[in-house]
Amino acid sequence: MCEAVLRESIVGRARAQGLVDIRTRNIRDYTLDKHKRVDDAPYGGGYGMVMQAQPIADCFRSLCDEWKCRPPLIYLSPQGKVLTQKKVNELAQLPALALLCGHYEGVDERVLEALVDEEISVGDYVLTGGELPALVLTDSIARLLPGVLPAQDAYSQESHYNGLLEHPQYTRPAVWEDRTVPEVLLNGNHAKQEAWRLEQSLEVTKRKRPDLLFLKKK
Ligand code: SAM
Repeated sequence: MCEAVLRESIVGRARAQGLVDIRTRNIRDYTLDKHKRVDDAPYGGGYGMVMQAQPIADCFRSLCDEWKCRPPLIYLSPQGKVLTQKKVNELAQLPALALLCGHYEGVDERVLEALVDEEISVGDYVLTGGELPALVLTDSIARLLPGVLPAQDAYSQESHYNGLLEHPQYTRPAVWEDRTVPEVLLNGNHAKQEAWRLEQSLEVTKRKRPDLLFLKKK
Protein backbone atom coordinates (compact mmCIF):
# COMPACT_ATOMS: atom_id res chain seq x y z
CA MET A 1 0.00 0.00 0.00
CA CYS A 2 2.76 2.47 0.94
CA GLU A 3 5.07 1.51 -1.93
CA ALA A 4 2.27 2.13 -4.46
CA VAL A 5 2.16 5.78 -3.32
CA LEU A 6 5.84 6.28 -2.54
CA ARG A 7 7.00 5.43 -6.05
CA GLU A 8 4.83 8.16 -7.60
CA SER A 9 5.27 11.86 -8.29
CA ILE A 10 7.67 14.14 -6.39
CA VAL A 11 8.52 11.66 -3.61
CA GLY A 12 9.01 8.84 -6.13
CA ARG A 13 11.45 11.00 -8.12
CA ALA A 14 13.28 12.06 -4.96
CA ARG A 15 13.73 8.41 -4.00
CA ALA A 16 14.96 7.52 -7.49
CA GLN A 17 17.50 10.38 -7.29
CA GLY A 18 18.70 9.26 -3.86
CA LEU A 19 17.52 12.47 -2.15
CA VAL A 20 15.54 10.48 0.40
CA ASP A 21 15.84 6.84 1.48
CA ILE A 22 12.44 5.36 2.38
CA ARG A 23 12.19 1.65 3.22
CA THR A 24 8.93 -0.14 3.92
CA ARG A 25 8.57 -3.33 5.94
CA ASN A 26 5.75 -5.85 6.29
CA ILE A 27 5.37 -6.70 9.99
CA ARG A 28 4.11 -10.15 8.97
CA ASP A 29 7.63 -11.03 7.75
CA TYR A 30 8.88 -10.81 11.34
CA THR A 31 6.36 -12.99 13.16
CA LEU A 32 7.52 -16.22 14.80
CA ASP A 33 4.00 -17.65 14.43
CA LYS A 34 3.93 -20.50 11.94
CA HIS A 35 0.63 -19.24 10.50
CA LYS A 36 2.13 -15.74 10.01
CA ARG A 37 -0.29 -14.20 12.53
CA VAL A 38 0.62 -10.82 13.93
CA ASP A 39 -2.50 -10.15 16.02
CA ASP A 40 -4.54 -11.75 18.77
CA ALA A 41 -7.66 -11.10 20.83
CA PRO A 42 -7.43 -8.44 23.56
CA TYR A 43 -6.95 -9.62 27.14
CA GLY A 44 -10.05 -8.93 29.20
CA GLY A 45 -12.30 -9.19 26.15
CA GLY A 46 -13.60 -6.47 23.91
CA TYR A 47 -14.06 -5.94 20.21
CA GLY A 48 -11.43 -6.68 17.53
CA MET A 49 -7.81 -7.78 17.49
CA VAL A 50 -4.60 -6.25 18.80
CA MET A 51 -1.21 -6.27 17.04
CA GLN A 52 1.29 -8.33 19.00
CA ALA A 53 4.50 -6.94 20.44
CA GLN A 54 6.99 -9.55 19.15
CA PRO A 55 6.75 -8.97 15.37
CA ILE A 56 6.80 -5.17 15.81
CA ALA A 57 9.80 -5.23 18.14
CA ASP A 58 11.75 -7.66 15.93
CA CYS A 59 10.97 -5.59 12.84
CA PHE A 60 12.14 -2.36 14.49
CA ARG A 61 15.30 -3.96 15.91
CA SER A 62 16.20 -5.41 12.53
CA LEU A 63 15.78 -1.93 10.99
CA CYS A 64 18.08 -0.47 13.66
CA ASP A 65 20.69 -3.14 12.83
CA GLU A 66 20.34 -2.43 9.11
CA TRP A 67 20.68 1.35 9.57
CA LYS A 68 23.34 1.03 12.29
CA CYS A 69 21.45 3.59 14.37
CA ARG A 70 18.38 3.77 16.58
CA PRO A 71 16.06 6.32 14.93
CA PRO A 72 13.15 7.81 16.91
CA LEU A 73 10.12 5.53 16.51
CA ILE A 74 6.86 7.36 15.84
CA TYR A 75 3.57 5.50 16.19
CA LEU A 76 0.83 6.92 13.96
CA SER A 77 -2.14 6.99 16.30
CA PRO A 78 -5.41 8.87 16.76
CA GLN A 79 -4.28 9.32 20.38
CA GLY A 80 -1.14 11.29 19.42
CA LYS A 81 -0.61 15.03 19.11
CA VAL A 82 -2.16 16.32 15.90
CA LEU A 83 0.46 16.92 13.20
CA THR A 84 1.36 20.53 12.37
CA GLN A 85 3.76 22.16 9.90
CA LYS A 86 5.94 23.18 12.88
CA LYS A 87 6.28 19.53 13.85
CA VAL A 88 7.00 18.53 10.24
CA ASN A 89 9.76 21.17 10.07
CA GLU A 90 11.33 19.75 13.25
CA LEU A 91 11.16 16.13 12.03
CA ALA A 92 12.69 17.09 8.68
CA GLN A 93 15.89 18.08 10.54
CA LEU A 94 16.41 14.55 11.90
CA PRO A 95 18.80 12.21 10.09
CA ALA A 96 16.40 9.24 10.29
CA LEU A 97 12.96 8.29 11.52
CA ALA A 98 10.98 5.06 11.85
CA LEU A 99 7.19 5.03 11.56
CA LEU A 100 4.91 2.36 13.01
CA CYS A 101 1.51 1.83 11.38
CA GLY A 102 -1.11 0.21 13.57
CA HIS A 103 -4.08 -1.83 12.40
CA TYR A 104 -7.20 -3.44 13.86
CA GLU A 105 -7.64 -2.08 17.43
CA GLY A 106 -4.05 -0.86 17.56
CA VAL A 107 -0.87 -2.30 19.08
CA ASP A 108 -0.05 -3.97 22.39
CA GLU A 109 0.52 -1.16 24.92
CA ARG A 110 3.89 -2.66 25.93
CA VAL A 111 5.30 -1.77 22.50
CA LEU A 112 4.50 1.86 23.20
CA GLU A 113 6.14 1.65 26.62
CA ALA A 114 9.26 -0.17 25.40
CA LEU A 115 9.95 1.29 21.97
CA VAL A 116 7.77 4.18 20.85
CA ASP A 117 9.17 7.69 21.33
CA GLU A 118 6.18 9.68 20.18
CA GLU A 119 2.59 9.28 18.93
CA ILE A 120 1.41 11.48 16.07
CA SER A 121 -2.15 11.82 14.79
CA VAL A 122 -3.31 13.22 11.46
CA GLY A 123 -6.55 14.50 13.00
CA ASP A 124 -9.22 13.82 15.56
CA TYR A 125 -10.93 11.01 13.67
CA VAL A 126 -10.18 7.30 13.29
CA LEU A 127 -8.90 5.51 10.17
CA THR A 128 -8.61 1.76 9.58
CA GLY A 129 -4.80 1.72 9.58
CA GLY A 130 -1.65 3.79 10.05
CA GLU A 131 -0.50 3.62 6.43
CA LEU A 132 -2.32 6.71 5.18
CA PRO A 133 -1.16 8.79 8.18
CA ALA A 134 2.41 7.49 7.67
CA LEU A 135 2.23 8.51 4.01
CA VAL A 136 0.96 11.96 4.99
CA LEU A 137 3.85 12.38 7.41
CA THR A 138 6.41 11.02 4.94
CA ASP A 139 5.23 13.28 2.12
CA SER A 140 5.19 16.37 4.34
CA ILE A 141 8.77 15.72 5.49
CA ALA A 142 10.19 14.60 2.14
CA ARG A 143 9.20 17.81 0.35
CA LEU A 144 11.31 19.84 2.81
CA LEU A 145 14.50 17.86 2.20
CA PRO A 146 17.25 19.55 0.18
CA GLY A 147 16.80 19.15 -3.58
CA VAL A 148 13.33 17.58 -3.47
CA LEU A 149 11.58 20.82 -4.48
CA PRO A 150 13.34 23.21 -6.90
CA ALA A 151 13.91 25.97 -4.29
CA GLN A 152 13.26 26.76 -0.64
CA ASP A 153 10.70 29.36 -1.75
CA ALA A 154 8.62 26.47 -3.10
CA TYR A 155 7.67 25.51 0.45
CA SER A 156 8.66 28.44 2.71
CA GLN A 157 5.99 30.69 1.20
CA GLU A 158 3.24 28.12 1.41
CA SER A 159 0.40 27.93 3.91
CA HIS A 160 1.41 27.23 7.52
CA TYR A 161 5.18 27.53 7.00
CA ASN A 162 5.29 30.98 8.62
CA GLY A 163 2.01 30.67 10.49
CA LEU A 164 -0.18 32.22 7.77
CA LEU A 165 -2.17 30.80 4.85
CA GLU A 166 -0.90 31.47 1.36
CA HIS A 167 -2.26 34.28 -0.85
CA PRO A 168 -4.59 33.34 -3.77
CA GLN A 169 -2.93 32.00 -6.92
CA TYR A 170 -3.88 32.63 -10.57
CA THR A 171 -2.67 31.36 -13.93
CA ARG A 172 -3.49 31.93 -17.63
CA PRO A 173 -5.82 33.05 -19.08
CA ALA A 174 -6.07 36.54 -17.56
CA VAL A 175 -9.87 36.46 -18.06
CA TRP A 176 -11.89 33.28 -17.46
CA GLU A 177 -15.71 33.35 -17.67
CA ASP A 178 -15.67 37.14 -17.04
CA ARG A 179 -13.48 36.71 -13.97
CA THR A 180 -10.23 38.68 -14.10
CA VAL A 181 -6.86 38.29 -12.42
CA PRO A 182 -6.04 41.12 -9.94
CA GLU A 183 -4.42 43.98 -11.90
CA VAL A 184 -1.40 44.16 -9.61
CA LEU A 185 -0.28 40.68 -10.70
CA LEU A 186 -0.27 41.70 -14.36
CA ASN A 187 1.70 44.97 -14.17
CA GLY A 188 5.18 43.60 -13.29
CA ASN A 189 5.79 45.89 -10.25
CA HIS A 190 7.52 43.39 -7.93
CA ALA A 191 7.39 45.53 -4.78
CA LYS A 192 3.64 46.08 -5.17
CA GLN A 193 3.11 42.39 -5.92
CA GLU A 194 5.04 41.44 -2.76
CA ALA A 195 2.91 43.84 -0.69
CA TRP A 196 -0.27 42.43 -2.28
CA ARG A 197 0.79 38.87 -1.46
CA LEU A 198 1.34 39.68 2.22
CA GLU A 199 -1.91 41.65 2.47
CA GLN A 200 -3.85 38.81 0.82
CA SER A 201 -2.14 36.23 2.97
CA LEU A 202 -3.29 38.06 6.11
CA GLU A 203 -6.79 38.54 4.71
CA VAL A 204 -7.17 34.86 3.71
CA THR A 205 -5.90 33.72 7.12
CA LYS A 206 -8.30 36.05 8.92
CA ARG A 207 -11.22 34.84 6.81
CA LYS A 208 -10.51 31.09 6.69
CA ARG A 209 -8.52 30.38 9.84
CA PRO A 210 -8.79 33.28 12.31
CA ASP A 211 -7.57 30.91 15.03
CA LEU A 212 -4.09 31.05 13.47
CA LEU A 213 -3.86 34.83 13.91
CA PHE A 214 -4.67 35.15 17.58
CA LEU A 215 -2.86 33.65 20.51
CA LYS A 216 -5.31 31.80 22.71
CA LYS A 217 -5.52 32.81 26.37
CA LYS A 218 -4.54 30.01 28.76
N1 SAM B 1 -8.46 1.50 18.91
C1 SAM B 1 -7.73 2.68 18.57
C2 SAM B 1 -8.24 3.84 19.39
O1 SAM B 1 -9.44 3.90 19.66
O2 SAM B 1 -7.45 4.73 19.75
C3 SAM B 1 -7.88 3.01 17.08
C4 SAM B 1 -7.22 2.01 16.20
S1 SAM B 1 -7.35 2.42 14.48
C5 SAM B 1 -8.85 1.60 14.02
C6 SAM B 1 -6.13 1.43 13.72
C7 SAM B 1 -4.82 2.13 13.42
O3 SAM B 1 -5.02 3.17 12.50
C8 SAM B 1 -4.13 2.79 14.61
O4 SAM B 1 -3.38 1.85 15.35
C9 SAM B 1 -3.28 3.85 13.96
O5 SAM B 1 -2.02 3.34 13.57
C10 SAM B 1 -4.09 4.21 12.72
N2 SAM B 1 -4.86 5.46 12.84
C11 SAM B 1 -6.21 5.58 12.87
N3 SAM B 1 -6.59 6.86 12.97
C12 SAM B 1 -5.46 7.60 12.98
C13 SAM B 1 -5.20 9.00 13.08
N4 SAM B 1 -6.18 9.90 13.18
N5 SAM B 1 -3.91 9.40 13.05
C14 SAM B 1 -2.90 8.51 12.96
N6 SAM B 1 -3.09 7.16 12.89
C15 SAM B 1 -4.34 6.72 12.90
